[in-house]
Amino acid sequence: MKTRIAVAFAVLAIAGTAWIAGAQDKPADPKPAAQQAPAKAPSDAELIAAQKPSYPLDTCPISGKKLGADAVDQIHDGRLVRFCCKKCVKKFNDSPEKYLVKLDAAAPKAKAN
Ligand SMILES: [Zn+2]
Repeated sequence: MKTRIAVAFAVLAIAGTAWIAGAQDKPADPKPAAQQAPAKAPSDAELIAAQKPSYPLDTCPISGKKLGADAVDQIHDGRLVRFCCKKCVKKFNDSPEKYLVKLDAAAPKAKAN
C-alpha cells in the first residue's frame, strides 16, 4: 500500500516537473525557433545516421536505380529517404506521399521483429 502511494507520487512528481519545464519553455524563450529546434528534434544528420542502418530500400524510390556512393540522403518529416541523385529529390518533393507509399511497403512494420 505504501509502495503504491510512493510510486504514484513519483509519477506525479515526474509529470509535474515535465509540465513545469514545458510551461517555462514556451513563453520565456524569445527565440524559440533557433533555440528549441536543435534541442527538441535531432538534426537531419543525426536522423540520417540513426535510420540509415535500418533503411529498407537499396534502390531509389523515384527511379528504382540502385543507390550508389553518391546517393542523396534526405529527411522528410523526420524520416530518412534515400535517392540516387538530386533530380529524384526534386521529383519526390513534388509529391512525397506518392513515393512514401513505396517506402512504407518496403519498411518492416515498426519494431515487429
Ligand atoms: Zn535519381
